[in-house]
Amino acid sequence: MTDAASRLDSIHQGISDAARLARRLPEAVTLVAVSKTRSAAEIEQLIAAGQRDFGESRVQEADAKWPALVERYPDVRLHAIGRLQSNKAEDAVRLFGTIHSLDRSSLLRALVQAGAKVGRLPTVYVQVNIGDEQQKGGVAMADLPGFLDQVRASPLPLAGLMAIPPLGPEPSPYFALLAKLARRHKLDGLSIGMSGDYRAAVMLGATVVRVGSALFE
Ligand SMILES: *Cc1c(COP(=O)(O)O)cnc(C)c1O
Repeated sequence: MTDAASRLDSIHQGISDAARLARRLPEAVTLVAVSKTRSAAEIEQLIAAGQRDFGESRVQEADAKWPALVERYPDVRLHAIGRLQSNKAEDAVRLFGTIHSLDRSSLLRALVQAGAKVGRLPTVYVQVNIGDEQQKGGVAMADLPGFLDQVRASPLPLAGLMAIPPLGPEPSPYFALLAKLARRHKLDGLSIGMSGDYRAAVMLGATVVRVGSALFE
């Protein structure tokens, strides 16, 4: 096995182990490989090993890297996971089938407009500022119900909630809180968990984990 294939294998194993502990099905968890800052050659090793879902933080970087790869591997699925400017909405909709960082009305409007123009509506996750951090992206918890109403009134398919917990020793309470919010709002999708905490996220209900460094290093 190549290094990339064995790293992929070990993450899949970690997901399965965590899912089994929580009496969940491993197939209910999608692994998104976060390929920001990684080269096309590094990405292709993972594609060769069978990985198909990839996440990028910046539209410009993704736009430079992915169109050529998508041409060669048309079955890859791209996920936008970083803060998104409304003026990049059209590029984003061309590239990404799923957007994990929808957090404000102006961006919702821009994505709906771009989707109509491009002829493709992205699936969205609403990002929640789960630690109420000043500088973080994500809709404030107090504003979540109203914002979800807006998204549900739009043509964009709403998959669920996404969050990046505050840096610190223990992400689990934040994962549990996001899971509770998702249940309260009858949403199935939960985009939580990165290299350091994806097992905990799976135990607490993640349906998508976004793993970068553990897959590439
Ligand atoms: C970079 C990034 C990740 C992946 O982080 P790793 O710790 O490298 O696994 C996941 N989610 C978001 C939003 C990111 O920006």
